[in-house]
Amino acid sequence: MSEAAPEGTDRPDVAKHDFIRQIVRDDLASGKHAAIRTRFPPEPNGYLHIGHAKAICLDFGIAAEFGGRCNLRFDDTNPAREDPEYVAAIQEDVRWLGFEWASLRHASDYFEVFYLAAEKLVRQGDAFVCDLSADEVREYRGTLTEPGRDSPYRGRSVEENLDLFRRMRAGEFADGARTLRAKIDMASGNITMRDPAIYRIKKVAHQNTGDAWPIYPMYDFAHSLSDAIEGITHSLCTLEFEDRRPLYDWCVEKVDLAGNPVLLQPLLDRGFPLEAARPRQIEFSRLNFNFLVMSKRKLLALVEDGLVDGWDDPRMPTLQGIRRRGYTPSALRLMVDRVGVSKQNSLLDISVLEGALRDDLDARAPRRMAVLEPLKVVLCNLPEGHQETLSFANHPKDASQGTRELPFSRDLWIEREDFAEVPPPGFKRLTPGGDVRLRGAGIIHCDEAVRDAAGNVVELRCTLDPESRPGMEGANRKVKGTIHWVDARRAVPAEIRLYDRLFTVPDPDSEGDGKSYRDHLNPDSRRTVHGYVEPAAAGAAPEQAFQFERNGYFVADRRDHRAGAPVFNRSVTLRDTWTQKG
Ligand code: ATP
Ligand code: MG
Repeated sequence: MSEAAPEGTDRPDVAKHDFIRQIVRDDLASGKHAAIRTRFPPEPNGYLHIGHAKAICLDFGIAAEFGGRCNLRFDDTNPAREDPEYVAAIQEDVRWLGFEWASLRHASDYFEVFYLAAEKLVRQGDAFVCDLSADEVREYRGTLTEPGRDSPYRGRSVEENLDLFRRMRAGEFADGARTLRAKIDMASGNITMRDPAIYRIKKVAHQNTGDAWPIYPMYDFAHSLSDAIEGITHSLCTLEFEDRRPLYDWCVEKVDLAGNPVLLQPLLDRGFPLEAARPRQIEFSRLNFNFLVMSKRKLLALVEDGLVDGWDDPRMPTLQGIRRRGYTPSALRLMVDRVGVSKQNSLLDISVLEGALRDDLDARAPRRMAVLEPLKVVLCNLPEGHQETLSFANHPKDASQGTRELPFSRDLWIEREDFAEVPPPGFKRLTPGGDVRLRGAGIIHCDEAVRDAAGNVVELRCTLDPESRPGMEGANRKVKGTIHWVDARRAVPAEIRLYDRLFTVPDPDSEGDGKSYRDHLNPDSRRTVHGYVEPAAAGAAPEQAFQFERNGYFVADRRDHRAGAPVFNRSVTLRDTWTQKG
């Protein structure tokens, strides 16, 4: 199931050897390219998601590893669905992942060049204006087993085509009335090559160019030429574009920007550098995880229907969502390295993603104590008003993280589930008449469980064994369990959001049984509890991650956390509890 490359490594200093990097290495060694250029080309029609993290890490990461440059280019040729809100969020996300673009571009910067390139195709007899309606085009296209038929407009003269195309550009015709089509081969075994449209009429305002254009280039034409304009050497994209590679190459060759720099004049006039070169498209497998949906359309529906609290809801697979959940850029880069690069599409287990976060945070996140569902413990043999501070290491495996002070007094909070009146078999924690170790403080004995009028246990009256305190003779006395705690007098009340998977089934996208992903939402994907955190956690900056001992990895919420009113999100549990649920 996993596509991890055998040579995959978690160490960034060890060279990676996937097939894309091998191509790049060969091209540099042979002198085909003196330096490489890549680009990350999102369409600003939604927020980036975990899948995009893979493309970003490859596009930017490979450029950086080989001393090249990577552009961020907004592929904004579809004006109806695009929005400046997405443009801003995408830039923030790329930077958050730790990358910086050599140059920020928009495909719409190149509209004038695309137009001149299309006129060139018309003059060469490689494109024609077609009056077939969308339905007719479909009818003429043929199928996988049957060739298509030539459009009746295919034989128009160059002069007529040029005149009609200029009038399309002038806004003379209605939306959809005509298209400009490449003249390739209606009998091609590759349907993409059957005279594909390269321009359509669409009188919609564009987020970058406003009302300047009543016609817009189609994806394949705009994308290939944008790569050529920017001198992209290795144009990395996902496997679904494999069939379109011949069309990509056709556009690049027929227009030949590198050989016709006059076409680039509108850009040179605006101060863009002359960089044109012949790009090569290379496809890699998409990143997909079970238990997630990643299509922008479905994510938008979750937001619009109020099934989540916006694009940055910590349960969303958007980069904004997982960031708020507590995912770190280094965990995502680690995940992408572990997954590797191949041409084999597969559905990865979500544990690969969660495991990368655990490993990243285990190594780096300071340890803290927090009690999520508190039960009061009173150490009756300590005097009223007793207070002390205990010193704890911030990280068990990283002494450079230093130590912190924890307050300790007669009144403590422990986790309600660490006490059982009638212990189930194998229970190792506190029971009436039993002993347990309080992490770093000593061993307590439970003398009495105090109840409220309704019969609920509200307080445990305990004795602290003075001989078991740290540094004392009896400190190593064996007891079955160790539990965490916080000082009830100085711990800070905190809101703690316990997030879990948004969907309960591995394949929420499968539409069998007449069900859709909406029918598989996990009703327990968020539970909010009110607990207590030690003072050193409360004062954290937003986005600071901690391991709350025995409870999991948590992050101070990016939006809502304040030192006086802490809010923590559970990023991931300490272990994979789903495989145990079976
Ligand atoms: P979606 O299908 O979710 O709407 P998209 O492919 O339309 O996404 P784009 O904005 O066009 O999104 O994607 C920008 C780049 O990110 C493209 O090069 C695309 O191939 C890549 N990409 C998108 N989704 C994934 C994924 N799941 N895994 C790897 N790369 C991806
Ligand atoms: Mg796309």
